[in-house]
Amino acid sequence: MKINTIGVLTSGGDAPGMNAAVRAVVRSALDRGLKVKGILRGYNGLIDDEITDLNIRSVSDIIHRGGTVLYTARSPRFREEEGMQTAMQTCQRQGIDGIVCIGGDGTFRGARDLSLHGIPCVGVPGTIDNDIASTEYSIGFDTAVNTCMEMVDRLRDTAQSHDRCTVVEVMGRGAGYLALHSGVACGATAVVVPEIKIDVEEDIIGKIMRAKKTGKKHFIVVVAEGVGGVDMLAGRIQTETGIDTRATVLGHVQRGGSPSVRDRVTASKMGYEAVQLLAQGIGNRVVAEKDGKIVDYDIYEALNMEKAFDEKLYRIANAINN
Ligand code: ATP
Repeated sequence: MKINTIGVLTSGGDAPGMNAAVRAVVRSALDRGLKVKGILRGYNGLIDDEITDLNIRSVSDIIHRGGTVLYTARSPRFREEEGMQTAMQTCQRQGIDGIVCIGGDGTFRGARDLSLHGIPCVGVPGTIDNDIASTEYSIGFDTAVNTCMEMVDRLRDTAQSHDRCTVVEVMGRGAGYLALHSGVACGATAVVVPEIKIDVEEDIIGKIMRAKKTGKKHFIVVVAEGVGGVDMLAGRIQTETGIDTRATVLGHVQRGGSPSVRDRVTASKMGYEAVQLLAQGIGNRVVAEKDGKIVDYDIYEALNMEKAFDEKLYRIANAINN
């Protein structure tokens, strides 16, 4: 299939580095002599015909900005056949021959469906949760985990001053990668993730009490949002240990901010590779990172992969954070 014009969209939750990926897609496509159109608000833009022509200067001054200049949305309408048909008509009217879809697994499912209907799509992983099975790394994770680290460091300052325990909920949807990595980076006494079943009495209360006996006076417990319940956990820790304990939910502060070097560089590489595939008429693929290299997979294959939790890092956290 001859590709003349490609579209680019961001979908699902925003992630720092999405703009760097959009920029890479636009500039790489122009570099190959293709035309580029920006599709606004994820798949909604295809249904509502919110499409804008992009040129080399349209993506100036965005590499360092968080969020996404294309806006993003979750589009339940796109999952209906009627929404899909409207999206297809928009592609035909706008002359869009292929699309780079930047987002998470849900976004990839949408890309698979569009490919199936005849518009080749290539997925680029962008989510702070790093929960996409097909890739070791997704754009936004490094920035988000650094934000978590900075925020938990601040909570540590005040916990240390008051001899308190601080229980922090970090994001990650159903996955514990943000919690695990920020827990390790911040020296959290306990990390609670959905992937590992724990015994609160032994693994949190007991661990705090054992550490207290060695002279430790302030404590950090990091909890993934997929587990939740930080207020209740904080109450229980306070009651059972006698340590003044506060709960904090970090929330959307983790989504924003200027992307890190890691996110900007990965976004640039992945955006470039996505365009190289589409330019050859190759669709129904996702780009991914494997052993530090950019690779690509069939979307069906990618969506059927399972992500292994880093149990070794979890064991390391338990061994050294006490
Ligand atoms: P994040 O991990 O940041 O939440 P995501 O891409 O997984 O990102 P979702 O809300 O799951 O976010 O999906 C984004 C959009 O992709 C949905 O709003 C919908 O338009 C489309 N989508 C999701 N699942 C499907 C599906 N099964 N079939 C077709 N389209 C889908």
